[in-house]
Amino acid sequence: MEYVSTRGGMQAQPFSAILLEGLARDGGLTVPAAYPKLTGPALAALRPLDYRGLAFALLSLFADDIPPAELRTLVDRTYTASTFGSDEITPLLTLEPGVLLLRASNGPTLAFKDIAMQLLGNLFEHALDRGQRDLNILGATSGDTGSSAEYAMRGKRGIRVFMLSPKDRMSPFQTAQMYSLTDPNIFNIAIDGVFDDCQDIVKAVAADAAFKRDMRIGTVNSINWARVAAQIVYYFKAYFAVTKRDGEPVSFAVPSGNFGNILAGHVARRMGLPIRRLILATNENDVLDEFVRSGRYRVRSPDETLQTSSPSMDISKASNFERFVFDLADRDAAKVRELWARVERDGGFDVGGTPLEARLRESGFVSGRSTHADRIATIQAVADNYRIVVDPHTADGIKVGLENRENGVPLICIETALPAKFAATIREALGREAARPAAYVGIEALPQRYAVLPPDVAAVKSYIAARAA
Ligand SMILES: *Cc1c(COP(=O)(O)O)cnc(C)c1O
Repeated sequence: MEYVSTRGGMQAQPFSAILLEGLARDGGLTVPAAYPKLTGPALAALRPLDYRGLAFALLSLFADDIPPAELRTLVDRTYTASTFGSDEITPLLTLEPGVLLLRASNGPTLAFKDIAMQLLGNLFEHALDRGQRDLNILGATSGDTGSSAEYAMRGKRGIRVFMLSPKDRMSPFQTAQMYSLTDPNIFNIAIDGVFDDCQDIVKAVAADAAFKRDMRIGTVNSINWARVAAQIVYYFKAYFAVTKRDGEPVSFAVPSGNFGNILAGHVARRMGLPIRRLILATNENDVLDEFVRSGRYRVRSPDETLQTSSPSMDISKASNFERFVFDLADRDAAKVRELWARVERDGGFDVGGTPLEARLRESGFVSGRSTHADRIATIQAVADNYRIVVDPHTADGIKVGLENRENGVPLICIETALPAKFAATIREALGREAARPAAYVGIEALPQRYAVLPPDVAAVKSYIAARAA
């Protein structure tokens, strides 16, 4: 499998060469030169596999330069019942006939991001074992990526994590999860700004090739292709768990922010998995909903980015989106360059009336948005009807999923976090506390360790340079 850039300016590279970053040198994102196709017997052969077997089968398509026996070991070490609560890894819960909850949030930090990040930790360690000297991970988080990355990398020899987070914009639980870590290889940096500021800084640092090389920087943001690849697995797992025969359609409802999760669903669909609809749910920050509905992509400024009660989706510039647009452009890098030049110049673009719009309509994407009031009402309705408490992001997905449900097509709603992470919203909706795993009781009272920096690339660079040696 070779990887190319969405902007066409990168020589084809193998998986191991793009493992440490998602950004290509030309400013585009790395993508497989072509998606592997799994139809007919190839799809049928996957149906009987358990999660680890499926993960190995799918990841070997994307990471084909890791020797199979080593990849198998990495996968087996990652997807264990002790890390994810059960050998199912992502079990399905039937809410009612035809409506299912894919429980992808039973990893160490109680969000679906652990599925990919735990694998990434082991892939990085593997890369270090094979000769890389040490590695400085730089990331930005709106709340869940940071803790997920830190729990995956803490204590790993040769790896340091520098994680930028928007100051005072995460839930108290999320904040405590990150800032209470005392491992010497973990550096939390609170940025005086919003998530998009953090993400822009990471992009700017990664664009400085000399700094990146000298500091041995790798990234773990959702633009990291290995994360997308790891997330493809649970779409297949859920498909086989819900259907009896290959070819039966299912739809997925996906609470979306940076477009990583639903991009994995898109890739699974392109690989041949019979996904009918990919139902994209946003919160009040509805850039992506607007695009799917109208073909108009209009980035918002940081001041237009609202702080909501589903904070992990408070994103106005979804970094993985360019990979989707690359496919909509029929993989024409020149077209992607032109569109992103328009983003720079005019703050967005409109694909209305072009072939991209036609492909958008064929992509299975539909969308909707969910507000705070919707979120509260959905958490209440789900608790009343199904006796289960869902987190605010999952509620956004369920709300929009149910609106776009079709007769005879199972609807799989992805649970992207556990409610314990967002206690205040659960209290508001249900008047009681969300259940919390024992390991997290009292976490907010622990001492916290973090640095505060302005939203300034130079300040972040010098912070890293002083500690990365
Ligand atoms: C990260 C996250 C999302 C958004 O996922 P993307 O891959 O960024 O679209 C949704 N819900 C929760 C709880 C998250 O942590």
